[in-house]
Amino acid sequence: MPITIPYRDASFFNRIADGSLADVAYEISRVYFGDTIPDEALVGLVQSAFPFDTPVHELDKAKKYVLELFHGPSLAFKDVGARYMAAFMSYFSQKLDREINILVATSGDTGGAVAMGFHNVEGVRVSILYPKNRVSDLQEKQLTTLGGNIQAFEVDGSFDDCQAIVKTAFLDSELNKIVSLSSANSINIFRLIPQSFYYIRAYGQLKQFGSPLVFSTPSGNFGNLSAGVLAQRMGLPVRKFIAATNLNNVVPNFLYSGIYEPKESVSTISNAMDVGNPSNFVRLCHLYGNDLDTIKQNIEGYFFTDEETEEAMQRIYQQYNYVACPHTAIGIRGLDNYLDKDTQVCGVALATAHPSKFKPLVESILGQPVDVPERLAHLANRTKQVIAIPADFQAFKESLLQTVS
Ligand SMILES: *Cc1c(COP(=O)(O)O)cnc(C)c1O
Repeated sequence: MPITIPYRDASFFNRIADGSLADVAYEISRVYFGDTIPDEALVGLVQSAFPFDTPVHELDKAKKYVLELFHGPSLAFKDVGARYMAAFMSYFSQKLDREINILVATSGDTGGAVAMGFHNVEGVRVSILYPKNRVSDLQEKQLTTLGGNIQAFEVDGSFDDCQAIVKTAFLDSELNKIVSLSSANSINIFRLIPQSFYYIRAYGQLKQFGSPLVFSTPSGNFGNLSAGVLAQRMGLPVRKFIAATNLNNVVPNFLYSGIYEPKESVSTISNAMDVGNPSNFVRLCHLYGNDLDTIKQNIEGYFFTDEETEEAMQRIYQQYNYVACPHTAIGIRGLDNYLDKDTQVCGVALATAHPSKFKPLVESILGQPVDVPERLAHLANRTKQVIAIPADFQAFKESLLQTVS
C-alpha cells in the first residue's frame, strides 16, 4: 500500500473525470509518481496501456447503469490492471537493463489478461502456470497460443498446486540468482491502482445527473472493490459500495456479523469469484483504518446462489435486453437489492467480463446465441503450445531455466 493515500477535492475529480480512461490514468499516475517519469514517457505509457475505454451502459436513465470493463483484449476487467502493470514494468526494466521474469498462477482470467498485456513487451518474459483441464477452452487459448515471450506451463494438478509452485520459486535462492522474478497476481499494487481509474471515469460519465453514486462490484479476491475504495479515499465522491458475491460469501458475512471466517472455496457458475479467503481483505480493512463501523457505513454485502444468479441473468435479459455474464448479473442483482431501499442515488454495477467468455453456459441459461467478438474469435484457430509438467517445483524450475537460457 502507499504509505499515505493522496487526497484531492471534488473539483479535481470534476476536472479530470471527463477524459478517456487513458486521460484519467495520466492524471492519477501523475499524482502517485510525481516527476519520477517524464511527461512524454508517461503519456506514451498510459496510451499504450489503454487503447480502449470503459463506457457506462444505461439500464434506467439517471438511476441504473452497467460499467462495462470488458472492452480490452481478453474481455475481462483484469486487462486494466494487467496492461497498466505491463506498460510500467517494461519502462522500468529498460532502465534496469536486465530481463524481468514474471511468474503467474491462474485459474482462468488473470492468465489471459497478463499474457495479452505482456505479449511482445520488451525486456519481460512471462511464465503462466495453469491447472490442466480446469480452465475453459477460450481461456486456455488465451494462455497458450501467443508464443514469443509468453510461455504457458500446463500443470498436472490444481490451481493451488500452481500457486504453491510459484510461491516456492520466489523463495528459491538458486533460481533467484539466475533470473529476476516478479509477480503479476493481484497482490501487486500495480494492478490495484489502475483499477481505481474506471470508477473515476464512471463518475465523469454520470455526474451530470447530480445524484450520489453507488457502485456494486462482483467480487472474489476483492481487488476490484478495494480499488474503488482507494478512489473514494483519494476523494472521489461515492455514497456506498456493494460487495456482491456468490456463495463464497465470507465478506458479506463479515459485514453482517463483524466476524471474518475464511472457508474452503465452493464451485459456482461465477467461477472467477470462487475464493474462500480473499487476498485483498486486509487491504480493504486497512483502507478504512480497520474500523468496523466505518467499513459498514461504506460497504453493504449481498450474496447469491447459482439459481438466483441464473434468475438474475434471465430477468436482466427480459427487462433490459442486456446479456450479462454470471459475475455481472450478481453485481446487478446486488445493486437492485440496495436500490429497493435507497432511491435517491445513481447505481452502477460493474460488468467484469464479456458474456461470450462463458458462451455455452450463458447460451444455455438464456436460450439465446451469444456472439464472440472478433478479437476473441480468431483465437479458436490457433494452436496450443505448452510445456506440460507434473505438480512439482523441481520440474518447473528445470524447464524454466531451459526456456530462459
Ligand atoms: C477476477 C474476476 C472477478 C473477481 O474480481 P476480484 O478483484 O478478485 O474481486 C469477478 N469477475 C470476473 C469476470 C473476474 O475475472
